[in-house]
Amino acid sequence: MTERYDVIIVGTGAGGGTLASVLAPSGKRILLLERGDYLRREKENWDPAPVFIDGRYISKDTWYDADGKPFQPQVHYFVGGATKMYGAALYRLRPEDFGEIQHADGPSPAWPLTYDDFEPWYTKAEWLYQVRGVHGEDPTEGHWSQQYPWPPVSHEPRIEQLADSLRRGGYRPFHAPCGVLLNEANRPASTCIRCNTCDGFPCLVHAKADAEVIAVRPILGRENVTLLVNAEVERLETDPGGGSVTGVVVSRDGQREVYEADVVAVCAGAANSARILLRSASDRHPGGLANGSDQLGRHYMFHNSKAVVALDKEPNNTVFQKTLGLNDFYFAGNGQQWPLGNIQMVGKSNWAAMKGEEPKLTRLAPHWGLEDVALHAVDFWLTTEDVPKPDNRVTVDRDGNVHLAYRQTNDVEADGLYGELRKILNHVGLAAHHVLDKNFYASMDIPVAGVAHQAGTCVFGTDPASSVLDVNCKAHELDNLYVVDSSFFPSIGAVNPALTVMANAIRVGEHVAQRIG
Ligand SMILES: Cc1cc2nc3c(=O)[nH]c(=O)nc-3n(C[C@H](O)[C@H](O)[C@H](O)COP(=O)(O)OP(=O)(O)OC[C@H]3O[C@@H](n4cnc5c(N)ncnc54)[C@H](O)[C@@H]3O)c2cc1C
Repeated sequence: MTERYDVIIVGTGAGGGTLASVLAPSGKRILLLERGDYLRREKENWDPAPVFIDGRYISKDTWYDADGKPFQPQVHYFVGGATKMYGAALYRLRPEDFGEIQHADGPSPAWPLTYDDFEPWYTKAEWLYQVRGVHGEDPTEGHWSQQYPWPPVSHEPRIEQLADSLRRGGYRPFHAPCGVLLNEANRPASTCIRCNTCDGFPCLVHAKADAEVIAVRPILGRENVTLLVNAEVERLETDPGGGSVTGVVVSRDGQREVYEADVVAVCAGAANSARILLRSASDRHPGGLANGSDQLGRHYMFHNSKAVVALDKEPNNTVFQKTLGLNDFYFAGNGQQWPLGNIQMVGKSNWAAMKGEEPKLTRLAPHWGLEDVALHAVDFWLTTEDVPKPDNRVTVDRDGNVHLAYRQTNDVEADGLYGELRKILNHVGLAAHHVLDKNFYASMDIPVAGVAHQAGTCVFGTDPASSVLDVNCKAHELDNLYVVDSSFFPSIGAVNPALTVMANAIRVGEHVAQRIG
């Protein structure tokens, strides 16, 4: 069976979903192929035990590390992709992130576009995803052409107190940009109830600005848009010359189907997009589709991240905690040798997350039940840039399994950031309230399976010898193949990546819309 469309989009996450929302008004025939199904709205959405202990929404995939050891990657195959589970912290990269930055473990390369080039797309993405925040508070951010569409989510008392203490200590905290739909968004059916289940949970009431809610659902009523779920794209076929994609091979309900389109956009996430292109090897493209440069699958990045829990003497009754960010250590300078990264609050700890993700935590605080630990927790997330390395890469074996060879970079910087946070906690008063005799912090590094912030693998650039995609995210070697997800990042910066994926999808979407008329 072969059906023809104007555009096929593979994957419906931050990249694919956003791209579809830009192209849908063109009236052209668009086919969305999504490997997963709709994420069911059910009471388990907000129940920590099924989410964190049973891994109810994590795919059953098995990937292999550099030593061939199997692991279960924390990937999420649903309409909306990883954004169904994301924390909706929607940050712009800093202008400096678009240039070359020196890090402890090597340079983070420059992008072929500047922050000024990206700024209009960031603004569009912030308005599409209804981001709440206040431009102008964070001294490290670049210029903006429009304020956020909505004011920031306000701090609850404990976090306001923390912000005040930080300011008194000379730090410069800001309200974290966040994509949640509150009353003012005029969406009575999807109003955030500030329930502390954004980060790592799906939103039962569809009040998180994820790609399904914001980008995909609103276009499904259009006659020109078709979405097929449980449709896993296996490979792409090309014409005999290898210059155009002619067929998208899909496995659906145990059947093999082939679809055709004038333009094909692969938006399956950094690892899976590389997987599809590597599995599409042919006589014309022996190393994988669009891989004449041998760069496909390389430069995989995922941030050097750390979750840190400080225990407060008083119960921390904050419900919606992720309202504060701090970029004071983002850049080198002022006596700081390296850029260290971003500090932000995350969703309040819950006992199941602690049990599921870090059993050692309870052993460190033996007199406490897990629920008590969670009640007193004040939770931080530290992000240090991971620099792209050619040997950090995705490959596939003969059976199509993903192999992820990855060695974390910039530990020196990540340790430096952790040290700064410890100083902050000691100086702003949190440590003074600790219930334990000594200050208590538990930190957790994110293992290779924690692929939430995956990026790289199909880097964009101007030189076909050193990049997979051109500046419009079209494969250098094919005239109708685009990759529009986190794969295109030449470097990842040290803030959450999704807004940049969305902004880029809008940018590429407008380019493709022009192309298809
Ligand atoms: C728990 C968690 C918390 C996060 N929190 C934040 C945050 O607060 N802020 C932030 O900026 N980022 C956050 N992220 C990261 C963010 O979600 C990703 O950066 C973003 O979704 C990446 O977009 P993408 O389009 O590359 O991939 P995805 O959004 O994952 O979309 C890929 C899509 O492709 C589909 N797919 C895969 N393979 C195939 C195939 N073969 N055929 C068909 N379809 C396929 C998938 O099912 C999925 O729908 C978080 C991620 C997780 C998991």
